[in-house]
Amino acid sequence: MYDVIVIGGGHAGSEAALASARLNNSTLLVTGNIKMISSMPCNPSIGGPAKGIVVREIDALGGEMGRNTDKTALQMRLLNISKGPAVRALRAQSDKVLYSKEMQKTILNQENLDVKEAYVDKLIVEDNKLKGVILEDETKYLSKVVIITTGTFMQAVILVGNDIIESGPDNQKASMGLSPQLRELGFITSRLKTGTPPRVRKDSIDFSKTELHEGDKIVRYFSFDNISYLAVEDQWPCYLTYTHSKTHDIINLNLTKSAMYSGNVEGVGPRYCPSIEDKVVRFNDKNRHQIFLEPESQFIDEIYIQGFSTSMPHDIQKKMLQTIPGLENAVIAKYAYAIEYDAIDPRTLYPTLESKDYEGLYFAGQVNGTSGYEEAACQGLMAAINANLKLKGKDPLVLKRSEAYIGVLIDDLVTKGVKDPYRLLTSRAEYRLLLRHDNADIRLRDYGYEVGLVKEDRYIGFLKKKGKIKELKRKLTEFNIYPNMSNNDYLLSVGSTVLKDKTSLSALIRRPEIKIEHIKRWENISEYSSEETEQVEIDIKYEGYINKAMKQASKLLKMEDYSIPKNIDYNGIQNLALEAREKLMKIKPLTIGQASRISGVNPSDISILLVYIKSIK
Ligand SMILES: Cc1cc2nc3c(=O)[nH]c(=O)nc-3n(C[C@H](O)[C@H](O)[C@H](O)COP(=O)(O)OP(=O)(O)OC[C@H]3O[C@@H](n4cnc5c(N)ncnc54)[C@H](O)[C@@H]3O)c2cc1C
Repeated sequence: MYDVIVIGGGHAGSEAALASARLNNSTLLVTGNIKMISSMPCNPSIGGPAKGIVVREIDALGGEMGRNTDKTALQMRLLNISKGPAVRALRAQSDKVLYSKEMQKTILNQENLDVKEAYVDKLIVEDNKLKGVILEDETKYLSKVVIITTGTFMQAVILVGNDIIESGPDNQKASMGLSPQLRELGFITSRLKTGTPPRVRKDSIDFSKTELHEGDKIVRYFSFDNISYLAVEDQWPCYLTYTHSKTHDIINLNLTKSAMYSGNVEGVGPRYCPSIEDKVVRFNDKNRHQIFLEPESQFIDEIYIQGFSTSMPHDIQKKMLQTIPGLENAVIAKYAYAIEYDAIDPRTLYPTLESKDYEGLYFAGQVNGTSGYEEAACQGLMAAINANLKLKGKDPLVLKRSEAYIGVLIDDLVTKGVKDPYRLLTSRAEYRLLLRHDNADIRLRDYGYEVGLVKEDRYIGFLKKKGKIKELKRKLTEFNIYPNMSNNDYLLSVGSTVLKDKTSLSALIRRPEIKIEHIKRWENISEYSSEETEQVEIDIKYEGYINKAMKQASKLLKMEDYSIPKNIDYNGIQNLALEAREKLMKIKPLTIGQASRISGVNPSDISILLVYIKSIK
């Protein structure tokens, strides 16, 4: 008998299995192929806008993705560095072979964690409670909790041109047994779709016809514990090229041959990760689209053609590709394809990712309708954290929209549901100025420590960092400089303006043109790490905006903390609009805040609900 069984060793399953075992639960990970644990069937990269911040949040909470990425990166770039801190995000080009190998090693060496290579065919459910799983060979394993993280595998089919083949990604077997049982249990499943581009042999590309894109010239890492990092000089380059009008002509000419446009596909594709066909059709005013040539691994001589996912027949793929500058003689090592698979409606889940109808059953990752390694990983982590808290009779951990992108993602899923594969974007977060790359540990590390995933040594390191930040802020506020020749000459030399009065260094930093480096002229800040000085600079420079955002967040927090009784009878509430009544009964929101975000529930319904709850309390 296990405490927890995790089905699937993808990005969600890896985080869930590790977190569950590290929280001292006897854990079994059942996955279709151990060698494909945390495999990257699509882009060999981790991070980017919003996603990069989620990886920092996973690390702050004690998850594995950040550390695994730092160990296996080929290139690192902090994106949007010239823009405000709210949109800066780290992106790693990952060695996909090493990434999976490192995660396999970590999982196979983890205490309390058994790993079984097999497919789960059925769940064992008694009186709406989870009791375990049955494998395809009818072996039974019992447990108190099951976390389903089957990704793009449930009833998966591969689509290329008119060909439809029952298969998971990268020729792995599809998972056929679970979806039908989930539907019998009353779950609504939907068909979603995503696609991947071709891989081209490196030696068949003429890179002289492309633009070089190198990594940053300073060391970057995701993990706050910076266990390892990629040296600047060891980075691999990427290259940029563009589609050509000839590419668009071939696509338009052969559009009906694409699986996506042939009418064979039922699944809905990701709006924010369109295939090249979609781009040519939807953005036909554009005469070219960016194509990044990305290394997949130091062990594979193949290049990933980012931005060129397609489901065209092989011969058309080749023709399309060979119109692109640098790819005229491209040799395709792996053809592109689309994949269609079953996902559940995440509105049937609590914000803990536990099913509302089956106790002990949790869902995480692409099976909940998201798309992306990072989106999957954070769900796996949160499902395991909350399963553990429930097993130990403790209150759940539900991150708020003002605390974490993870909170935004999960709230969007369980409150609004998904129509197409959900991808995280900065625009989804109303408090994005609070949810930054630099402060993920300040926001979440206490939670990681409280739930038991961040161990004492890492937590002490974090408290030290917080103390240093506080100390430096105090120093800069107390240190005044005066309007004299030497100071004013220096300020003019760095493009700033002269002082008129005594000014504190923190007031000086508020000047847009003044950077924390300039402060070294007056105050020795060498004892502070770049993370600490960056934090101080951002907190001082954006203090006004940050305080405003926090005030807005605190106003809504009251609604967020206003809980709705679990056994509330919405039929008993007079004057509630019919649509609102139906939606509230279906989604069973836990708080007034969550209720207010359900589409079809209007502010007037919320006021009626508030009055009603007060009357029954
Ligand atoms: C072709 C393709 C293209 C993609 N394109 C993009 C993209 O452009 N952008 C993007 O952000 N994301 C893309 N993705 C999605 C990305 O790969 C996923 O978001 C991510 O891998 C999801 O992680 P996961 O852990 O939920 O599932 P997965 O990584 O799919 O892992 C699922 C795991 O579950 C196991 N499993 C499944 N069923 C069973 C069972 N019954 N019993 C035991 N084990 C089981 C599998 O072996 C696998 O290890 C693409 C995926 C594919 C396949």
